[in-house]
Amino acid sequence: MKDGDRMNETSSDVATLHLGDTPIRDRPIGRSIGRGLFNRCPNCGQGRMFGRFLKVNDTCTTCGEALHHHRADDFPPYIVVTIVGHLVLGGFMMTEMLVSLSNWQHLAIWVPITVLGSLALMQPVKGGVVGLQWALRMHGFGGHEDRPEDELPAQDRT
Ligand SMILES: [Zn+2]
Repeated sequence: MKDGDRMNETSSDVATLHLGDTPIRDRPIGRSIGRGLFNRCPNCGQGRMFGRFLKVNDTCTTCGEALHHHRADDFPPYIVVTIVGHLVLGGFMMTEMLVSLSNWQHLAIWVPITVLGSLALMQPVKGGVVGLQWALRMHGFGGHEDRPEDELPAQDRT
């Protein structure tokens, strides 16, 4: 849905759409994802998003922006699996083309790379996902909690 469509609908049905007070353009998607990737609050870019490994702070330590609304769930692992899987598979196949290694040698190379690469990417990717959700005002980031009934077409509501 384009921005203009949302604006048209809000003028007639503000209570249903629950847009926040600030226009969507105030939360650039690329900047928000980038800040999340570097463990920064998507709002101010200064405070830390994560208090400890993979644990998102309830609020930004600098600007107080609420971050507990995120619902990253298992989306970050899907992204990490896709990235690491392609790197490891490509690396394995290239190595196999160049030199002939035993299975144990391959395991000794690729298992640590898989484990360490996944651990290294998980938090930045999760930060990026939280930044994206913040930018799109998903899951309460727009000032209201999720209400699934608002997303269903009128004929599907019970
Ligand atoms: Zn902040």
